[in-house]
Amino acid sequence: MNNGGYVYLVGAGPGDLQLMTLKARRCVEMADVVLYDRLVNPLLLEWTKPDCEHIYCGKLPKRHLLRQEAINEKLVQYGSEGKVVVRLKGGDPSVFGRVGEEAHALDEAGVPYEIVPGITAGIGAATYAGIPVTHRDHSASFTVVTGHDKSEKGEPLIDWQALAKGSDTIAFYMGVKNLGYIANQLTLHGKPKDTPVILIQWGTLGSQKTVSGTLETIAEEVSKSNLTNPAITLVGEVANIRKEPSWFERKPLFGQHILLGRTSGSQGAVAHELEELGAEVFEFPRIYSKTAEKPQTDFRDFDQIVFISPESVEIFFNWLRTDKVDLREIRATFHVRSKKSERVLEKYGCFTSELTKVKEDSSKVLLLGNAHLANDKMLLTDTWGSHEYVITHHDFVVSSTDVTCERLKDEGRIQTIVFPSAQSVQTVSGRFMKMGWSIEEINNTVKVICFGSMSEKAALSAGYKVDVVLESPTKEALINVLRQSNITEVVK
Ligand code: SAH
Repeated sequence: MNNGGYVYLVGAGPGDLQLMTLKARRCVEMADVVLYDRLVNPLLLEWTKPDCEHIYCGKLPKRHLLRQEAINEKLVQYGSEGKVVVRLKGGDPSVFGRVGEEAHALDEAGVPYEIVPGITAGIGAATYAGIPVTHRDHSASFTVVTGHDKSEKGEPLIDWQALAKGSDTIAFYMGVKNLGYIANQLTLHGKPKDTPVILIQWGTLGSQKTVSGTLETIAEEVSKSNLTNPAITLVGEVANIRKEPSWFERKPLFGQHILLGRTSGSQGAVAHELEELGAEVFEFPRIYSKTAEKPQTDFRDFDQIVFISPESVEIFFNWLRTDKVDLREIRATFHVRSKKSERVLEKYGCFTSELTKVKEDSSKVLLLGNAHLANDKMLLTDTWGSHEYVITHHDFVVSSTDVTCERLKDEGRIQTIVFPSAQSVQTVSGRFMKMGWSIEEINNTVKVICFGSMSEKAALSAGYKVDVVLESPTKEALINVLRQSNITEVVK
């Protein structure tokens, strides 16, 4: 077969997006179709092409899960149709990931494929809980074991004797339900009952939780804590190495789940910084910018050029390059509306002038921006005076972004909404309405932060209960507020 059809069986890592391999990310970006499991972080779907088809293979409240045979069939079907198919699995695809069955089906059908390894939860979750799975002083071996099997009772059929005697560190996957049985078997077969045990739930994610004990106490500790799957049960002396809280849990914004309103396609520096501080950030909605047709306009004719968005800066320079216009022939001063646009301009070695000058001056003014804003003639003239407007691009909301949003919402992963601008209130609320997420529900479950008085006004008039308006519309002020909200939670 040589119609371009190709299947990638990819490990998406344990949860934290940054733990995906470069190759896995490339596969996601190339995919025509993505089939993904429940434990795959839905945020990575935001990396797919705007027209990529997403197929959920996990359980949903009102839907049956896609059976393994049906998944195999789909992989073969899409691959045979000439599509680039990515089958995403949590952790590593070959660790309790059924990759062998899928690869076999593809082999049988003659569909070419690759397997892309990933970081398995037993190692990823342990590391983020501050536990090395081996240690020169405490553990010379590490075993990966299922805590559940296909039998009716689901209790794993393992050589317990060999396991208890032969392995220093054991990671049980899918074992929460059988914890009592597992601890019993290990003790019966020779592991001391005071062997340390730790359960790590949702490892590497903001919702990471741990419960510690010993083989004797762990089942009771876990039932008291109501901790459920997905969790790794780690048995062995290494569990004692953990410092409470771990390096990951100590990050200043650990545990915070933030939806950051977005109005353009570009990736935000704010999001990146919040993530570095340990927060999970969902920039919503995902916007795809399509460059408009190049206009006849001669950019050399203008005295002042205003860039409405960062995309318009990039596109402007691309057009100059295409027309072979040397930047030194442009005499206009440059103006921007946002820090983001300013940063892009600086990348090209250009600096901006004070905005106020634009309106006062009666010189020839050109505005460059998206098609959406071009309709708002009154507002534009009010702000910028008489001008010409060139549409540099069209913005489209990628519809699959709503699915990501719904998943995060259902998993309790939207706790704070940040509106950086009045326009972001409009864009985000429109999507919420489409998804059927009511203002009442949002106000009851989510904290709303506005960057300034304009976004506050827009948020209030849309019905939100605004919790915080930043003292200044900056990243630093936002981080300050978020840090404090962690403190209040701890104090409570
Ligand atoms: N292929 C996956 C494992 C799939 S089996 C991997 O290599 O990690 C599913 C089990 O993996 C869950 O029941 C749980 O025991 C474990 N698991 C997956 N992701 C996890 C996470 N983020 N934190 C803790 N355990 C996780």
